[in-house]
Amino acid sequence: GDPGRRASNAPESAASVARRATARRDFTGRDPREVLHEVYGYDRFRADQADIVAQVIGGGDAVVLMPTGGGKSVTYQVPALVRPGTGLVVSPLIALMHDQVEALIANGVRAAFLNSTQGADERRATEQAYLAGELDLLYVAPERLNTASALSLLQRGKLSVIAIDEAHCVSQWGHDFRPDYLALGDLAERFPGVPRMALTATATPATAREIVERLQLPDARRFVASFDRPNIQYRIEPKVDQRRQLVSFIRSVQQTEGADASSAPAGIVYALSRKSVEQTADYLRGQGIDALPYHAGLPTDVRATNQSRFLRDDGVVMVATIAFGMGIDKPDVRFVAHIDLPKSVEGYYQETGRAGRDGEPSVVWMAYGLGDVVQQRRMIDQSPGDRTYKMRLGQHLDAMLALCETVACRRQNLLDYFGEASEPCGNCDTCLQPPETWDGLVAAQKLLSTIVRLQRERGQAFGAGHLIDILRGAKTERITQQGHDKLATYGIGADLSDQDWRSVVRQLLARQILVAQGDYGTLALSEASGGVLRGEAPVPLRRDVLGRSGASGGSRVRKSSSADAVAAGDRDLFEALRAWRAEQAREQGVPAYIVFGDA
Ligand code: ADP
Ligand code: MG
Ligand code: ZN
Repeated sequence: GDPGRRASNAPESAASVARRATARRDFTGRDPREVLHEVYGYDRFRADQADIVAQVIGGGDAVVLMPTGGGKSVTYQVPALVRPGTGLVVSPLIALMHDQVEALIANGVRAAFLNSTQGADERRATEQAYLAGELDLLYVAPERLNTASALSLLQRGKLSVIAIDEAHCVSQWGHDFRPDYLALGDLAERFPGVPRMALTATATPATAREIVERLQLPDARRFVASFDRPNIQYRIEPKVDQRRQLVSFIRSVQQTEGADASSAPAGIVYALSRKSVEQTADYLRGQGIDALPYHAGLPTDVRATNQSRFLRDDGVVMVATIAFGMGIDKPDVRFVAHIDLPKSVEGYYQETGRAGRDGEPSVVWMAYGLGDVVQQRRMIDQSPGDRTYKMRLGQHLDAMLALCETVACRRQNLLDYFGEASEPCGNCDTCLQPPETWDGLVAAQKLLSTIVRLQRERGQAFGAGHLIDILRGAKTERITQQGHDKLATYGIGADLSDQDWRSVVRQLLARQILVAQGDYGTLALSEASGGVLRGEAPVPLRRDVLGRSGASGGSRVRKSSSADAVAAGDRDLFEALRAWRAEQAREQGVPAYIVFGDA
């Protein structure tokens, strides 16, 4: 009996629900495969799951790097059921925690959670259940776990396994850092003999190393699943008219999904701001698309209603900030669209990973504009944190830009980022329609030579605008005053438009063939410049599809005065990159000018 509970008239707690749900089956010591079948109804373990489960049941630690939807949950839940004691699950997402516990209880597992949304009664009931050995799984938010009372509670009971989910949150440089994760390394000493697991879907080799180190898992066996999601098609296109592009993308998915339209495809559209979420949802509804908004600023009941419509009904398009999606287990999301540039490749990968969990063909699409870069750069500048921290954010942005600007396979670029070698996929936009490229070697050499000549002959350095004027043979006041029309490279780049040159500069900066330095963002050579000047390798540049003219224009000198939106965007992009490079240069010391033969 439980007189304490009966005396209380508080709403029924998770713990009491757990107890009630138990026509108690005891899984201790049972065959993991039987447990998998009896509890979840699955026939067999997927890929590495069986090995992970065996490792942990045997008392060993494990680091599990598996993409979203790969099936990480059962790898800690099954050991928690098979080993005596309660499995402790550290999870940062309270909403997700709640859903997981509900699902477990529905499967007859005695599960409960401890987090800040609970009342005192409910918390006490959960604590008692734990101490009485009546819980198979206990979910705890990291901030609660890091309290003396929670730790002493846990030490008074018996843990079977400690699973740290979303373990990449321990990475200070990651996109999802949570300070409370840093203290989780102490669990090793507090609970010796309890096997520990770190699980994440976000795993660059550097993040994995950081997880092992900070969570004190030096002897853990590492399980690395492939991060490839072969059923996902990647597409990235330049932003021209974002809303129209989005609608035509959604329509194209609707068409491929079949005209029978009995079930319109469900999708998620990610935007950066709440305002943009609401405006985009309105716009899509105006276009006859069943779109709903979701962001943290909406009332709880609206969020809940929209989320359940998305999960339950066919063909709902959720327009959301990144607050939406973590832990949303909807298998048949047919597309994910990004109308703003994500902050990192990790984030992009996680968000796009919500498409096609059922393994069916799915499309992810992003519209990438130059203004995005400016906005992101501004956000980095304004973010709290020291210079090193901002530098890391800048590196995340750089990797994202490299993915956007690649002329090679998108999937290969992504997998390479996660440390996985692969062949071109044949299914992404760049594989299906290789972008038009041109060999920018000579253009790059002209630009780099101008930079070096100015530096050597005059001890001067300039930003992109003036350098382009020199190359194009413009007759500006500054050129005359400085006598730059006497330079050997004056006018040698008149074959390219101002806009083409800006595209060259942008791409060379993105590939770090150039760096921008100092407060004025003057252009300078990088370590990679030498090879280009010596002509050691071609410099394939993507032809800017945004531009009006190609790189092949005649020799007429067209001054940049046209307040062309694209060129303005280019300038903005350049400014953004410049600021970032300047910071990087300050941080690393000014790179030495290389010595090369006369161009
Ligand atoms: P992750 O945490 O890695 O993103 P989940 O643990 O949420 O993934 O699992 C993703 C989906 O795969 C869930 O719908 C889950 O029920 C399903 N799943 C996991 N393992 C198996 C399995 N062995 N057989 C069938 N389905 C599985
Ligand atoms: Mg998970
Ligand atoms: Zn490809």
